[in-house]
Amino acid sequence: MKTIIEPFRIKSVERIRETTREERQRLIAAAGYNLFLVPADAILIDLLTDSGTSAMSTEQWAAMMRGDESYAGSSSFDRFRRSVQDIFGFRHVIPTHQGRAAERILFTVMCKKGDVVPNNTHFDTTRANCEFVGAEALDLPIAEALEPAALHPFKGNMDTARLAETIERLGAKRIPLVMLTVTNNSGGGQPVSMANIRAVKAICAKHGIPLYIDACRFAENSWFIKLREPGYADKTPRAIAQEMFSLADGCTMSAKKDGLANIGGFLCTNDDLLAQQEKDLLILTEGFPTYGGLAGRDLEAIAVGLNEALEEDYLKYRIASTGFLGNHIAAAGVPIVQPPGGHAIYLDARAFLPHIPPAQFPGVALAIELYLAGGIRSVEIGTLMFGEHARMDLVRLAIPRRVYTQSHIEYVVEVILDVWKRRESLRGYDLTYQAPFLRHFTARLQPRAG
Ligand SMILES: *Cc1c(COP(=O)(O)O)cnc(C)c1O
Repeated sequence: MKTIIEPFRIKSVERIRETTREERQRLIAAAGYNLFLVPADAILIDLLTDSGTSAMSTEQWAAMMRGDESYAGSSSFDRFRRSVQDIFGFRHVIPTHQGRAAERILFTVMCKKGDVVPNNTHFDTTRANCEFVGAEALDLPIAEALEPAALHPFKGNMDTARLAETIERLGAKRIPLVMLTVTNNSGGGQPVSMANIRAVKAICAKHGIPLYIDACRFAENSWFIKLREPGYADKTPRAIAQEMFSLADGCTMSAKKDGLANIGGFLCTNDDLLAQQEKDLLILTEGFPTYGGLAGRDLEAIAVGLNEALEEDYLKYRIASTGFLGNHIAAAGVPIVQPPGGHAIYLDARAFLPHIPPAQFPGVALAIELYLAGGIRSVEIGTLMFGEHARMDLVRLAIPRRVYTQSHIEYVVEVILDVWKRRESLRGYDLTYQAPFLRHFTARLQPRAG
C-alpha cells in the first residue's frame, strides 16, 4: 500500500485543551511574549521541541519496572552500556542526565581558553558550553546550508576545505577536537553524509585531532543516508549508524532525542585517560559512573529506546510525517528550509516577514502569531537565540516522536497557511530583559507599536 501509517496503536491518551485567541493573547502578554514561559496546558499542539517529549513504548515502560536502583554497579547500567556499545561501539560509555552535561564534561576536560572547536554547526547548548570554558565555537557548514531555499541531499555537511584551511592557519595545537552534529539541528535538521564524515575524519587523522559526533539524531541521519547516499539503500539503519560511529573517537548524546526517552544522555570516548578524567568530573556534579544523574529505570528506557529508534517502519513514518508538513506549506509558497529535515520543519522568518528587520526578531513575531492563531508552540532559532552570530532567522516546528497523528499535522498546516495570508500585518518585537547567556530561555519582549 502507498499510505504510510503510524506503526503503532494508542494505549494511553493525554487530553489537550483548546483555548480562545483572547485567552492566548492574555497568556502570551503575561509570559513577556516568550513562549518558553507559557504554561504547557495552554498549548494545543506543542512543537517547541522534540527533546524529551517522545511517547514511550510498552516495551520501554515494561523495562522501567526492571530498573535496578543500586547506587553502584546496577544491572540496568550493564543493559544500558551493552545497548549503547552495540550501536555506537566506543570503549567508554559515561551516562549523564542529558546532552548538555556530556558537553560540559567533554569541553571542561578537553578545552582551554584560546582553543577553537570546529563543528558543522554548534547547537545552542554546545556553543554555550564551549564558550563557557573560554574556547571559540566555530561553525563550518557548507555554503548551501546558509541558503534556506537551496536543495542539497546532505545540507548538514561540513565544509572540508574550510576545515583543512582552519587547521593549517591555527595549527593543530589550538584545536583539541572537531565535532560533527548529526543531523545538523541548528542548520535545519539536515543530514550529514557518510562521505563527509569520512572526509572530516581523514583531515582530523592527518593532524592527530580527535573527531566527536554530536549524536542526538543519529537514527534519523542514518535513515537519510539509506535513502539518499549511493551504496546504502540495502543497509539497515543500525549498520549505517555503526559505520558512522566507527569513524569517530567519541560522541555526546542526548537520549531525549533518538533515545526515545524523556531524560538522559551519555558521553563516549575511546581514550582511556580522558575517560578517567571525565568520570572524575562526573562524580563531582552528576553522580557515580554507573548512573550519572539518572535513575536505573531511566537507563532501561534508553537501552530499549535506542533500538526502537532504529526500526525501519518507525523511521519511515517519522520522516514521511515531517516531509508531509514541509511539502504542503511549501507548495502554498511558505518559505521553509529545503529540503524538509528529519525532526523539524524550519520556517524562514526573514523571507516570511521581509518587512521586519532581524534586530526586531522576525522569528519571534512569527512564532507568537502561530500561537495566537492556533495554540501552536514553536521556537525561534535566530537573532534572539544566537545574537549577532545568527545568520538566519528561523522558526522551528519540532515534531515530538510518536506523539501526534496525521490529523494533528494537517491542523498545523492549516494554521500556518492562515498566518501566511495575513503576514503583512505582523509586527516586530523589542527586548526588555535578557540573561548574559542562553538568553532566549528567559528573555522578555514587547511588541513594537505601529
Ligand atoms: C538537544 C541537543 C543537545 C543538548 O542536549 P540536552 O539533552 O538538551 O541537554 C546538543 N546537541 C544537539 C544537536 C541537540 O539537539
